[in-house]
Amino acid sequence: MNTTSNGAAGGAAAQPGTWTCPFCSLLCDGFALESGPVLQLHGSDCPRARSGLATFDDLGIATPSVDGAGRDLDAALDAAAARLAAARLPLFGGLAADVQGMRALYRLANVGGAILDHAHGEAMMPALRMLQDRGQMFTTLAEIRNRADLIVCIGTDAVSSYPEFFRRCAPAEGHEAACRVVFLAAGDGMPAADDIPWASAVESVRPAGDIFDTVAMLAALLDGRRIPDPDGALVALADAMRSARYCVIVWEPARLPPHGALVGETLLRLLMNLNRKTRAGALTLGGNDGAQTANGAMSWLSGLPLRSRVGPQGVDHDPLQYASARLLDERAVDLLLWVASFTPDLPPPQTTLPRIVLGHPALAAACAQPGTVFIPVATPGINADGHLLRADSVVSLPLYAMRDDGLPNVAEVARALLARLTSGVAAKEGAQ
Ligand code: SF4
Repeated sequence: MNTTSNGAAGGAAAQPGTWTCPFCSLLCDGFALESGPVLQLHGSDCPRARSGLATFDDLGIATPSVDGAGRDLDAALDAAAARLAAARLPLFGGLAADVQGMRALYRLANVGGAILDHAHGEAMMPALRMLQDRGQMFTTLAEIRNRADLIVCIGTDAVSSYPEFFRRCAPAEGHEAACRVVFLAAGDGMPAADDIPWASAVESVRPAGDIFDTVAMLAALLDGRRIPDPDGALVALADAMRSARYCVIVWEPARLPPHGALVGETLLRLLMNLNRKTRAGALTLGGNDGAQTANGAMSWLSGLPLRSRVGPQGVDHDPLQYASARLLDERAVDLLLWVASFTPDLPPPQTTLPRIVLGHPALAAACAQPGTVFIPVATPGINADGHLLRADSVVSLPLYAMRDDGLPNVAEVARALLARLTSGVAAKEGAQ
């Protein structure tokens, strides 16, 4: 069980910098949170953080359930372990957990030979394919703050899913260079100039054609290839990117249409081209709900990314065959263990397969169903300590419990299941 570890007693406002927000992969750590039955954010109007925090208001006591009937934690663990022991090919999905949770899930997956995929696995694939096929040229939030003089957001307004993104990019003290922000094919919701007060200019470029045409055309222009009747705004943007001292491309794989990996690969080629004469890097916006963490932990523990099967036979990675939706649709697996510890907005997929859900307490009612074992778990940064990887992959940040709701964290539940499986208790329970 967790104890409140940041020293913020109920009702006391934590000082700015003592809370790390877990609700998107920017992991903002400059705001304050007032703890208590209702959690209050100070220093930011971030709608995503406010809506995430609201799910913990006056939460009440969430109890585990087995097939819709309330049970104590031990009984729910026994039932979950028995179903895991009986499964021949389980899928561990969702995977919205912190580093320790993911490490414990990985060990548990190894016992039964499970496949691991994240709830955002599909959105992660373009960046993963780009990395596997060609490598990557990434930058960090700190590099942007200290060096960028041109930020080009391609196919995204950034702020719809990452509301504090431009505040996090604000030039660091002493970095006086003017910085332009250009939105290329970013749709209608782009921020106004007032929303990015530090930018020397905020512009929008909307060429004809889809995102594939746009990125291919930009790459060709940066390559110096002759193009009949090119879009004038794209020509000007290519010139600006060539003359920038540090150009940053921001992209968001989750917003790309199918086959978005093609865009990722073109962007990488474009960056390699730019880096022949100047400096440029990409920031990939993604990894929410612990996706960055799950993939990082999986990679350093097994040597392969998510959408892999682990077990006594070794590790098998297949980004297409091991997609959760496909595995469930085709009933290629026989049990779903779903982890959603951050928000109730990540419910487990509906399926007739047996389900074990380690979830946000607000999922309790939706998961009280025949065939489902539900175990409420604590959330890193709210009622559990933990660590998460930030969107730029270079920093693992600590998160602190702001209050104690008496819930186990994901790692504790996974370890308890592992102990039952390896001691043989689960097999006996299943035989009864
Ligand atoms: S931008 Fe993301 S990390 Fe920052 S406060 Fe909003 S939800 Fe939290």
